[in-house]
Amino acid sequence: MQKRDYYEILGVAKTASAADIKAAYRKMALQYHPDRNPNNKEAEEKFKEASEAYEVLSDEDKRQKYDQFGHAGFSHGGGPQGGPGGMDMDDIFRNFGDIFGSMFGGGQQRPTGKPQPKRGHDLYKELEISLKDAYIGTKVDLNLYHFFTCDTCSGKGTKQGTSVKTCGECGGSGQTHIQQGFFMYAQSCRTCRGQGYTIPSPCPSCNGQSRTQKYDKFSLTIPKGIFQNAELRVTGKGDAGIYGGSTGDLFVKISITPDKKFKRVNDDLVCNLMLAYPQLVLGCEVEIESLDGTKIPVKVPKGCAVGEELVVPGKGFAKLKSNVRGNLVVITQCHVPKKIDAEAKKLLSAYSDLIGNDAKDEGTISWLFKKFLR
Ligand SMILES: [Zn+2]
Ligand SMILES: [Zn+2]
Repeated sequence: MQKRDYYEILGVAKTASAADIKAAYRKMALQYHPDRNPNNKEAEEKFKEASEAYEVLSDEDKRQKYDQFGHAGFSHGGGPQGGPGGMDMDDIFRNFGDIFGSMFGGGQQRPTGKPQPKRGHDLYKELEISLKDAYIGTKVDLNLYHFFTCDTCSGKGTKQGTSVKTCGECGGSGQTHIQQGFFMYAQSCRTCRGQGYTIPSPCPSCNGQSRTQKYDKFSLTIPKGIFQNAELRVTGKGDAGIYGGSTGDLFVKISITPDKKFKRVNDDLVCNLMLAYPQLVLGCEVEIESLDGTKIPVKVPKGCAVGEELVVPGKGFAKLKSNVRGNLVVITQCHVPKKIDAEAKKLLSAYSDLIGNDAKDEGTISWLFKKFLR
């Protein structure tokens, strides 16, 4: 039999876009889908023919080859898959199932008569740590309740010595058909609830589900330098897969509680240092206690202004995955007492008289001294 032109089969022009070709195939596939035309040989042939055409025209390379050489471009004289007849039904569902998957089963995989492995869900957890823990790194004990592959049946879901059975009612397709007047309806098989298989003797531990839930206790290392909203991925600590599917991952989102004394700016550790006026004027050396409790000497230079940033290199946060560290940045503040004793007041007034109007600087407004408030 003379092979029909692929464009003609799908009813599209030679210049049709990829989207047009897909839409045309979807329409044909819906019309001739075997679930809608059970035991209809002609519909099945049309379905296969359209699928073969789509297989070629949906692939840019194959389409180009077909445009140039026609059917001769595909050796063996048959379909693109080899011998005459091209693809079989399984190929079609495997390759293009998603195109018409939403038709009956809500986009689900077509049942195959046995349980299909499915990857387990990823799990999400938010973890609050202190700024200190972010600075030095920490270990957190977690206790998460989630799915594990059933030990008793090793994830098969069946009682020892028994096996899964392909559903006899629907032959594994998960669907049965009812004729109503001219129309044929597909409905989910009641015997297997659309799964295409049954488990006559389920594993007693997991009830045939292949997994059980339990607590998982483990400790998680939080690297030093971890930043706010960082997400740690812990491979294989999510839910176990179903029927031998791979295990999901655990994602831990880090939330850092603000600290009263320190804050983080990029990789720098920043804090305020309260000093008395004479310390700023004369300069001094002080020792401050950092976030991790270590004592760090800080040198305040002579004539230091308020708001000056004194930098201690390498005492900030560790940069993730490197040996480099940010700095400790100490911002000077001046402590102004609300009350002082008579002796101090006398000295301070005398000092003020001595320096007179010296407290002027460029860029600030000028003033004329009137009197002290006593
Ligand atoms: Zn069934
Ligand atoms: Zn089990």
